[in-house]
Amino acid sequence: MDLSYILNHLGENRESYMQAVSPPIFQTSNFTFKDVETMRASIADELNTPFYTRGCNPTVAILRKKIAALESAEDSLIFGSGVAAGSAAIISQLKAGDHIVSVSKPYSWTKKLFSLFLDRFNIETTYIDGTNSANYKNAIKPNTKLFFMESPNSMTFEMQDIEEVCKIAKANGICTIIDNSYASPLNQKPIEMGCDLVFHSATKYLAGHSDVVCGVLAGSNEKIKEIFASEYMTLGGIISPNDAWLLMRGLRTLELRMNHISKSVFEVTDFLKSHELTEKLYFPFDPDFAQYELAKKQLAKPTGLFSIAIKADNRGEIDDFCNALNYFLLACSWGGHESLVFPVCALDSSANYKNNEMPWNLIRFNIGLEDPKLLIEDIKQAYSKVFMKSVTHI
Ligand SMILES: *Cc1c(COP(=O)(O)O)cnc(C)c1O
Repeated sequence: MDLSYILNHLGENRESYMQAVSPPIFQTSNFTFKDVETMRASIADELNTPFYTRGCNPTVAILRKKIAALESAEDSLIFGSGVAAGSAAIISQLKAGDHIVSVSKPYSWTKKLFSLFLDRFNIETTYIDGTNSANYKNAIKPNTKLFFMESPNSMTFEMQDIEEVCKIAKANGICTIIDNSYASPLNQKPIEMGCDLVFHSATKYLAGHSDVVCGVLAGSNEKIKEIFASEYMTLGGIISPNDAWLLMRGLRTLELRMNHISKSVFEVTDFLKSHELTEKLYFPFDPDFAQYELAKKQLAKPTGLFSIAIKADNRGEIDDFCNALNYFLLACSWGGHESLVFPVCALDSSANYKNNEMPWNLIRFNIGLEDPKLLIEDIKQAYSKVFMKSVTHI
């Protein structure tokens, strides 16, 4: 389906709301019926008929069509956060005594769902290095029900060969779920590669303006119907109609934003890569990246996330560098209009901060919509301020 049609028109039945171009925000918890027969029909198909907003809300329903089309899926559900979308998907596939095989470094709260929450219900998780698909196969036990992927992850960008992992899963009757937040649906379509369920933190690229927390989940009609009737309705992690409208407005410019970012990210990474103070660049589209070939095979374009390990002697220098930036804001999250830095050393206040899971000198960058020249100038001035070296590049 044509991308511009999806973003600008799909699901928008304008005759039903007085030809308004922008869909109304159906700010209502409840829907009333003219007679019992129509009420009965609505209850019988609560996924698709407005009855009560925890189930179906007309503003949210437009998004379900757009997200499903973007992910080449049959249907989708919209949630109040990426974590709500991911948790509903994961929990839907499991019962006590089951086993999960997951990439070793999923998003931190996904890992907590596995290790703190599901562990309490006697569900065990084996963490593997997902850069080698055989590790998934080797970790299978008789009770394995789920392969979890996040490709690439959002700090060091390790990837899984999605097609290969899904093939192993299918041959063994195992469900596959992927966190596709890094790529956005424009740059990676896991369902076309055989994946069962795909979710996003829509807070990031889909909404794109750092003004709403939301999540989306896409899959087959059958799976979405099941999840709706169970985790979606019982856990109730829904999006508000107002936030759904904000997400829809964000989607209008998704293609423009992603195209812009995919170009400017190269300008900034090219500058940083050749810089004397860069120890290592972590960026899937860098030819020296360990999985560069897989990136080119699996991802249409890069997005605005990458990291560098910087040649600093101590945490103080990294603090000073980040503090000296003017346009890169110091914040977590990513995918909004604004450029950001997130230093790993902010995660650990102890004296032995160098013994972290991740390189202590790693700084994660998010490239927003600013002119990349402005961003490069900002990095130059912060470097020279902190490291007192003349920056001669570019
Ligand atoms: C932010 C993020 C999430 C969680 O999404 P929320 O919208 O904050 O709940 C999940 N996965 C990845 C990769 C993320 O970056």
